[in-house]
Amino acid sequence: MSKHIKKSIKNISISGIRQFNSLASQYDDVIKLTIGELDFNTPSNIKEKTIDAIKDNKTRYTSNIGLLKLRSQIISTYDQYFSNEVIITSGSTEALMIVLRSIIDKGDEVIIPTPAYPGYKPLIDLEGGVVRTVDSMNIKRKTLEKAYTEHTKLMIITNPNNPTGYVYSEEEMEVIKQFVLDKDILLISDEIYNEINFAPYNSSFTKFKDLKQNLIVISGFSKSHAMTGYRIGYLISDESLVKHFLKVHQYSVTCATSISQYAAVEATKTKYKIMVSTLKERRDIVIKKLRQLGLSYYPSNGAYYIFVDVSKYNNGYDFAVDLLKKQKVAVIPGSAFLGDNDDFIRISYATDTKTLIKALNRLEQYIKSLKKSN
Ligand code: PLP
Repeated sequence: MSKHIKKSIKNISISGIRQFNSLASQYDDVIKLTIGELDFNTPSNIKEKTIDAIKDNKTRYTSNIGLLKLRSQIISTYDQYFSNEVIITSGSTEALMIVLRSIIDKGDEVIIPTPAYPGYKPLIDLEGGVVRTVDSMNIKRKTLEKAYTEHTKLMIITNPNNPTGYVYSEEEMEVIKQFVLDKDILLISDEIYNEINFAPYNSSFTKFKDLKQNLIVISGFSKSHAMTGYRIGYLISDESLVKHFLKVHQYSVTCATSISQYAAVEATKTKYKIMVSTLKERRDIVIKKLRQLGLSYYPSNGAYYIFVDVSKYNNGYDFAVDLLKKQKVAVIPGSAFLGDNDDFIRISYATDTKTLIKALNRLEQYIKSLKKSN
């Protein structure tokens, strides 16, 4: 009986991304530029190690914190962290969940630049926390000060961003770092797309050595190695925080899937270069078309998303529904993401290049038809 369900859960709705994707599935011959899942397959050496793990009976619990081999491999790419400062989790989603459960008390405030990934707020709501948004295109000390109150405990950054693909500039990263340090709050840096990053500088917040005590990095293998179904992620933070996160992890899932952990060891030795260079080419194809069509978009330098302003024609939701019905192309309305994004749609270019071009041509036909009827 739903009367027994707690209030904070009842108030949470199903992700708008999933909802729109289900709507798109009701139509035939639809090209989906919706879900954040790559068309690339998991590299075969990783798949082979997965099979080996099963054959070798690596099918038992691992330590709660995760395989030492995997943790050591992960921290070898991050300066100044030790193997007891990494927890292997069931996707980065679990990492987010255990960190937020460990940090947020009722009434605590969290600053999130928007547009933002819709996975954060429901987890904050569940703990009775309060989200305060700032414009991700206006990261200045003054803006952050305005969002800050005595209840602020945390800031969450996604770099590169979902849904915009935006990567913070070095100057913006410096502003965020200094703000977090001066206020002595925590920073979650969700770097799940860090491997798919076209910016020419290091955009991981781990580069700031003085930030270590205040920083929690969230990452994983879903995006970097096309391993979404393996459900394997991790968090990295100072030992003083990790020891508490580990308690929530232990009592939630015991440990991440052993087989996936062995596969992830192989992933740490595998650079998926062809995937990254292909995604960059696709990003350029999408941008070229958007320019031709006279549509503006957020600067996109990573992940595989472009956030497009369609307000010349309609609000994002109606635009997306009409595009789906008339041209069989599915995109996600901006309203599915955290922030005031009603004017936008998100295009995911995680689909093969030929199909992507076909979808962009359909978008062009659609825009032409709108221009004619105006
Ligand atoms: N963080 C961001 C910004 C994402 O876009 C996603 C998935 O799309 C996740 C976290 C969760 O990824 P996973 O749980 O597969 O590691």
